[in-house]
Amino acid sequence: MNEGLLFPPLPHRIESRAPAAARDVSLQQFVRHATVTKDTGRVDACRAAFGERYDDLRQHAGAIKSHTLDHLDLYLERFEAAATRAGATVHWAADAHAANRICLDIAGRINAKVCVKSKSMATEETRLLPALEAAGIKTVETDLGEFIVQLDGDAPSHIVTPMIHKNRASVARAFVRDLGSRYTEDPGELTMIAREHMRRLFERADLGISGGNFLIADTGTLVICTNEGNADLTVSLPPVHIAVVGIEKLIPSMEHLPVFLKLLARSATAQPLTIYTTCISGPRRTATPVAGPDADGPRELHIILLDNGRTELLREPTRELLRCIRCGACLNACPVYKAVGGGHAYGSVYSGPIGATITPHLRGLHNYPDLATASSLCGACFHACPVHIDLPAQFIALREEAARSHLNPAPERAAMKLWRWIMQSPARYRFAAGLARFVLSRLDGVDLPLPGPLGAWTSCRASPRPGEIDFRAWWGERSQMGGRPADSAARAGTGARYE
Ligand code: SF4
Repeated sequence: MNEGLLFPPLPHRIESRAPAAARDVSLQQFVRHATVTKDTGRVDACRAAFGERYDDLRQHAGAIKSHTLDHLDLYLERFEAAATRAGATVHWAADAHAANRICLDIAGRINAKVCVKSKSMATEETRLLPALEAAGIKTVETDLGEFIVQLDGDAPSHIVTPMIHKNRASVARAFVRDLGSRYTEDPGELTMIAREHMRRLFERADLGISGGNFLIADTGTLVICTNEGNADLTVSLPPVHIAVVGIEKLIPSMEHLPVFLKLLARSATAQPLTIYTTCISGPRRTATPVAGPDADGPRELHIILLDNGRTELLREPTRELLRCIRCGACLNACPVYKAVGGGHAYGSVYSGPIGATITPHLRGLHNYPDLATASSLCGACFHACPVHIDLPAQFIALREEAARSHLNPAPERAAMKLWRWIMQSPARYRFAAGLARFVLSRLDGVDLPLPGPLGAWTSCRASPRPGEIDFRAWWGERSQMGGRPADSAARAGTGARYE
């Protein structure tokens, strides 16, 4: 994997990668087409299934997660006790290093040579795959998108759709180059090539690794949702399985699960349910896999509960970020994610609005000083989020923190000071507004971009043209005519309304 894309030299600025991505026409097309299709599908699926009740449902889901996070200590202990009773081994990992150490110790004890892995953001976070490879364990991503990203030495660009930035031709080229297959762009044939290759690895694997979508505290159950069935093979074929799961994935009991399953699938891929939804409570119940209830599955099941900065996020006002179920809907809805050509510009494992708000907390605001500017504050992410996370409020809080810590650029700070000084006096405001009208009227027709520091802003924007009459003059004139401005605006047929 191209580690540098997700773990760049720090501090990382999104503006260092965004311009090149914005100029890459085919990248823009792939990402725009995929995200618009998914976002439209999500809206249609939620409207068809929930209608007017959709907002109530996502608030309900958010409330379940908030309740769990408010009592996380209790539910974590309850989960550990139930999972242990079911025969699983629960491990606690304070950080990425500890999680990888536990995995390597288990792999070493069983003398693992081949590991099959299903898609997991938690293991991307801990950089588990390179750690396994460095220990001499051949590790293969079994999610088709992740597998192609691995073959290409690339990095995932989306939480749910890792190869959103690639097309069929690049998959075909990767298969010819690395698997020796014939060139085809037929999706069915490409899938069969990958399937044939992976089945052989599943048969040989002595270790399986996955993440988890939910953990059920009452029953100690691990829930994995996929569309390809690769996670089920990863869990059930190798004799030993390890699931690396963030501590925020807990929900109290099985009765809460349907709420999240309904929302997760529709928000991620516009499906009523993911094709495979697997609930795993403990390892197999017999010494050897035979037919019968609870008789298949791994001999050993290890669940690693990963903190890696999450308990810090439990502080207000960031606690709601831990409600995230990683559906990717906010990425698909976000105009900035599209404009920067997908996730690589963010320089972090998590991209889009959730990545831009969670990464500065997990890896330091000083390391990602401008990530919170990667939002137009249009609110599309908030409306897309199935667990009702107020992402725009999180962006604003981060910007405030960056400004307080003087992490925003000095010219921006100077401009803001000047703006505040102007806004504190009507006379200064009048003068500044008149000056701006004068300058803009002179700029009309000037070939942009402007030189110097204004170049980046003006290179992709047209110079605004001032109106025929300015607002203050219009307001004064209407007021003199008598009546409220709203009435006069209506009489004048402008359609303007003032509340
Ligand atoms: S923040 Fe909300 S919309 Fe974004 S990935 Fe998380 S759950 Fe999905």
